[in-house]
Amino acid sequence: MSSHTQVPVPHFIRNIIEADLASGKHTDVATRFPPEPNGYLHIGHAKSICLNFGLALDYQGHCNLRFDDTNPEKESEEYARAIQEDVQWMGFQWQGEVRWASDYFEQLYGFAVELIKQGKAYVDDLSAEEMREYRGTLTHPGKPSPYRERSIDENLDLFQRMRAGEFADGAKVLRAKIDMASGNINLRDPAIYRIRRAHHIRTGDAWCIYPMYDYTHCISDALECITHSLCTLEFEDHRPLYDWVLDQLAVPSHPRQIEFSRLELRYTITSKRKLLQLVTEQHVSGWDDPRMPTIIGMRRRGYTPQGIHEFTRRIGISKSENVVDMAVLEACIREDLEARAARVMAVVKPLKVTISNFVAGESQSREAGFHPEHPEFGSRIVPFSKEIWIEADDFTENPPAGWQRLTPGGEVRLRYSYVMRCDEVVKDIAGNVIELRCSIDQDTLGKNPVGRKVKGVIHWLSAEHALPAEIRLYDRLFTVPEPDNDKTRDFCEFINPASLTVVQGWVEPAVRDAVPETHYQFERLGYFCTDRHEHEPGRKLTFNRTVTLKDSWAKDPG
Ligand code: ATP
Ligand code: MG
Repeated sequence: MSSHTQVPVPHFIRNIIEADLASGKHTDVATRFPPEPNGYLHIGHAKSICLNFGLALDYQGHCNLRFDDTNPEKESEEYARAIQEDVQWMGFQWQGEVRWASDYFEQLYGFAVELIKQGKAYVDDLSAEEMREYRGTLTHPGKPSPYRERSIDENLDLFQRMRAGEFADGAKVLRAKIDMASGNINLRDPAIYRIRRAHHIRTGDAWCIYPMYDYTHCISDALECITHSLCTLEFEDHRPLYDWVLDQLAVPSHPRQIEFSRLELRYTITSKRKLLQLVTEQHVSGWDDPRMPTIIGMRRRGYTPQGIHEFTRRIGISKSENVVDMAVLEACIREDLEARAARVMAVVKPLKVTISNFVAGESQSREAGFHPEHPEFGSRIVPFSKEIWIEADDFTENPPAGWQRLTPGGEVRLRYSYVMRCDEVVKDIAGNVIELRCSIDQDTLGKNPVGRKVKGVIHWLSAEHALPAEIRLYDRLFTVPEPDNDKTRDFCEFINPASLTVVQGWVEPAVRDAVPETHYQFERLGYFCTDRHEHEPGRKLTFNRTVTLKDSWAKDPG
């Protein structure tokens, strides 16, 4: 499956690619998506996935999936597996095998030796703190480390001994020898190898030195002959280093790094580190909690890959700020589900109604299609009985102006069924409405009542036939648009206490055997999805609310 079928939106990266193809600089487009397996992917990564894999598809090129696994302490197999699953769920397939930066560790080491031989890298003994002092600031140039002028032979010997494990963690680093006075701090002799005794998910304990990201990334791109290396804007200042490293070495290609702006989504956060905090501090049930902006969380909530694709298409690619309202994403999901989800009825806040003039066997309910525009969805019988559930919020004794639902003495249409009048309100001793006694107009099945207009249409369920279901109503995870923007307060303080409400509701018998991850529209309530973990067809029914409906449905006569 690929949902990448929409007309592409032009953007500056496309223009660059088209110019490169036109000029003959490239005959093929090769991109890569390079996640670090230190967490689950989020909606920001979805933007990058759609960009990289999407461009490869559009220009009949290819896209690699490469794990940037240079920080062993934070990385895990679980994350790496989940990331692959997420990319495939998004509808994309990488070319060939999954790549790992760690596959290149030996080559990266060889290139570092090459830099040393050229006099362009040296082993430094300064402590991390001293190195910071020596680095200078934006306004003051750095000063050279006393170890900067070590001989090539000494550097080769020390680097080899770093690898052999002769020195303690942090005791030495290998640095590129570039320019301590550069206006770009990234060029002030950046570290390219550090000593770190950490078990690596792929290479185990084979290495006690690990290459730094900036050094690793450009060489990995070059070895894979990536043509366009797309990354987010915070790497703009690193580009001179990307180019410097490749200019020194005999690599098979020199990819072009191009930066675009990160997606930020209001009312949520797009940082793996902070999402991890939500998980470890148990503010959410896990990475796949449906409130999380993770791909797996959105999937569990009922978002579709196609809806997410459309979202990334709408937000576009540029270098300007990309802060987007959650409503844009929700609208894309809603529009996608509109054609995809079968319609059924469910009641989330049940109020019992007894039909006084219903005689078993005499009344029939109508067959109802699962989708108003798609007959191929099929249909089901909506059973009727003497006791029904309606939504408590569809009844009031004190109707505001314009109220079209049920009131004492008033009438409504039961969706796909009769017009019903409320004759009596039953209350408990505290004065709460606990039941309504109503009567139906037998002449209104599939036709309008004679001599009067009934505008309101409400959903309902036959109490005898309805199935109990756990229904989880999700709202935004945070109460403020930019929860991580307050420097004085932890973002977790802004968690929306009403972001999850669990109710015991009722659903139509037609959904009994729905498999996990089935999408429905519960009429008038929103789009819902059967839970991928806790929904057992025919047994415990669990539904997650994906998104509410913008408009309540039309007032046609059932
Ligand atoms: P985080 O800060 O959440 O850990 P990251 O950039 O460190 O994000 P990586 O795993 O390194 O995460 O990212 C893989 C790719 O996804 C990179 O090319 C990165 O630029 C891109 N990416 C990450 N976050 C976003 C975002 N919010 N918008 C667009 N692209 C993103
Ligand atoms: Mg990163």
